[in-house]
Amino acid sequence: MTLRETAPKLSPEQYEKNFAEISPRMTSRQAAVEAARCLFCFDAPCTFACPTHIDVPSFIKKISTDNLRGSARVILEANILGHSCGRVCPTEVLCEGACVMHEKAEKPIEIGRLQRYAVDHVLDRSIQLFHAGAPNGKRVALIGSGPASLACAVELAKLGYRTTIFDRNELPGGLDTYGIAAYKLRAKDTLREVEMVRALGVEFHQKTNVGSDVSFAQLEKDFDAIFIGVGLGETGALQIPGEDLRGVVGAMQFIEPTKVRPFAQLTIGRRVACIGAGNTAIDVVTAAKRLGAEMVHLIYRRGEQDMPAFRYEYDLAKLDGVRFHWHAQPVRILADAAGRVAAIECVRTRTESVPTNERNEIAIIPGSEFQLEIDMVVRAIGQEPATKFIRAVQGIALKKNDTIVVNARFQTGNAKYFAAGDCVNGGKEVVDAVAEGMAAARGIDAWLEAPRGKN
Ligand SMILES: Cc1cc2nc3c(=O)[nH]c(=O)nc-3n(C[C@H](O)[C@H](O)[C@H](O)COP(=O)(O)OP(=O)(O)OC[C@H]3O[C@@H](n4cnc5c(N)ncnc54)[C@H](O)[C@@H]3O)c2cc1C
Ligand code: SF4
Repeated sequence: MTLRETAPKLSPEQYEKNFAEISPRMTSRQAAVEAARCLFCFDAPCTFACPTHIDVPSFIKKISTDNLRGSARVILEANILGHSCGRVCPTEVLCEGACVMHEKAEKPIEIGRLQRYAVDHVLDRSIQLFHAGAPNGKRVALIGSGPASLACAVELAKLGYRTTIFDRNELPGGLDTYGIAAYKLRAKDTLREVEMVRALGVEFHQKTNVGSDVSFAQLEKDFDAIFIGVGLGETGALQIPGEDLRGVVGAMQFIEPTKVRPFAQLTIGRRVACIGAGNTAIDVVTAAKRLGAEMVHLIYRRGEQDMPAFRYEYDLAKLDGVRFHWHAQPVRILADAAGRVAAIECVRTRTESVPTNERNEIAIIPGSEFQLEIDMVVRAIGQEPATKFIRAVQGIALKKNDTIVVNARFQTGNAKYFAAGDCVNGGKEVVDAVAEGMAAARGIDAWLEAPRGKN
């Protein structure tokens, strides 16, 4: 990509410092002190607040008695991606948000970090806690290797199913590998977790696009059930003039290289504008700053109080020195003589309440146009479902927003197909995809009524 002006390269040490873990590994002393603070509540609200219902008091108790293997077993039985969830879960609004310590005006227990501490113990030592069930003769194909499919495959493998994952990417892991901010989770750590899944006998066919490299008809012939865990697709378009200029990219196109290529190889504009104010937009602006961009603008057509990003993500971007433009809407992107992004023109907006609407309407303020000098624009206004190719399968219904319709067992309108994760829920968190993937595995097992073999 040719940019008008690029940010100066940093030293390798500086990149590593900028992308250092924001929530580092605990020492054994820190973990012991933190575990000792837990009140081990009966009917613990943290467990209810976790979509995978990990028995939090139980795993913390085991840390306090130095039984790290037992602690990891409690975590991973409920959530096989307990390692990445310990790093990436929005704990502030899930388990830690429900911690009773809030009522005592004390700091909540650091559940996410304790979880990671316990699971690191088994991952570091390649301890395999689970084994595949005795083969039951049934085969299940899984489309996508993201959190939903990984969780589903593990549950099925434990029940004796032969499971095969097909994913179009080079590396497995879905957005854990290619999307989540590098200062939360590096691709190499996701791949360690994937190895735990592979060790249960789950087969991976990477660089295999279902719909073109492998047909649905072939999958239907070879497998007893098919799980769809394809996540979401491309970032939505701004639909403004200049969007096709060199230097305008989608959020995923911007973030992916930060996960799988050395930082020093990445080229970034000296001045970057990001459109949108969700968690993905925050990941874009914080990554842009950490890669060395001198000026990073976040442009959002509503107000600060309306931004969809979590509060602590927003605080992170503020600390990084991002400049926020509230009530501003881009109207066109301007180019220099060589056709490269040079500026973005925005107009001021105001929100007006409409009694019949849940959200305020946005009105443009005439004559309020202003321009920002920039070299790069990143669209972060939400990923769109990429499920249109599923229309080729008879019986599977899509909602108006193209997410897949499923019943309580995560079964689609075509009984052989099940689906879960972002392609069903429209885009939530890793822990939701895991919970749904596990529930879908139970749905598949109930539908296939496979006999249980003896181990
Ligand atoms: C930028 C970004 C940051 C995020 N940060 C966080 C965070 O900090 N914490 C958090 O909990 N969640 C975060 N999320 C959300 C989280 O990553 C997702 O909710 C989760 O990954 C969904 O899992 P999934 O398995 O449904 O889909 P995905 O992880 O998207 O995996 C889908 C997989 O399907 C594959 N696929 C698609 N179509 C085909 C096909 N036709 N054939 C074969 N393979 C196919 C894709 O290659 C991909 O590997 C973030 C999301 C984004 C975009
Ligand atoms: S999986 Fe996530 S939400 Fe659940 S207990 Fe662990 S850190 Fe909290």
